[in-house]
Amino acid sequence: MVRKACCVNRMNRRGFLLRSSALALAASCPLASSLATGAESSVRPAPKWPYEWQVGDFSIHSDFDFRERVDLIDDLQRLRGDLESSLGITIARERIHLILFATSSRYRSYLRKHFPGIPDRRALFIKRRGPGMVFAYDSHEMAVDLRHETTHAMLNASLPYVPLWLDEGLAEYFEVSSADRPGKSPHLKIVRLRALIGQVPDLVALDDLSDLSAMGAGEYRDAWSWVHFLLHESEESRQVLLRFLAELQAQSPPGPLSRRIAAGVPDYQQRYLKHFRAAF
Ligand SMILES: [Zn+2]
Repeated sequence: MVRKACCVNRMNRRGFLLRSSALALAASCPLASSLATGAESSVRPAPKWPYEWQVGDFSIHSDFDFRERVDLIDDLQRLRGDLESSLGITIARERIHLILFATSSRYRSYLRKHFPGIPDRRALFIKRRGPGMVFAYDSHEMAVDLRHETTHAMLNASLPYVPLWLDEGLAEYFEVSSADRPGKSPHLKIVRLRALIGQVPDLVALDDLSDLSAMGAGEYRDAWSWVHFLLHESEESRQVLLRFLAELQAQSPPGPLSRRIAAGVPDYQQRYLKHFRAAF
């Protein structure tokens, strides 16, 4: 079964396997080799990519004519503004490489060859010392996958560290098209049903997660729900998230977000239930 798109990067907590895999890549792929070692200046158009072009901060490399899907790139360019206005942080103007394939088989074949041992995910964000790389293939989920992985790329280019669950919760939130984010996420229905029977996801348990392999479908859903709660429950809840991210961006260790929520949003568990039981 193909799992949800994910982020596999991280200089600090989650990148160890991928870092060594990325080094293995150096012998076989000029593009990914230079990106993996941070030597971006040596990147030259690789003849193996039939289509390569640049749009804003995005360098796009694809094995099919992706230019017809330029609307997706426009969408990704808007994501920067969406993140900045929603989260109150400055998104770094760091180049992001989009490596796009016509089919899932070509995508998997490429990743197996250049990143052996990598988890089988529908799309991936990989970052080492150089610019972030987003890998995806053409499908009806491609827009969602690109928004999800590019959210990771932009957050990780802009913040020294993002707690695993918050990183995934934000990517889940922003992967939905902008108009649908508050009220049409695929997570919303089940989260509301769970709220109706009094189920509040354990924030402390989420904060304790340190390995992407521990993030199953339930953890992605729960992470999304807390992000939605923080952004939409009240100005009080929103400010807890914004202050946390601002401190991260200022290199000031903010401590566990679960503790900040408990301190900044009195009765947050009851308010979580009320938030998702309400119609919106
Ligand atoms: Zn992810």
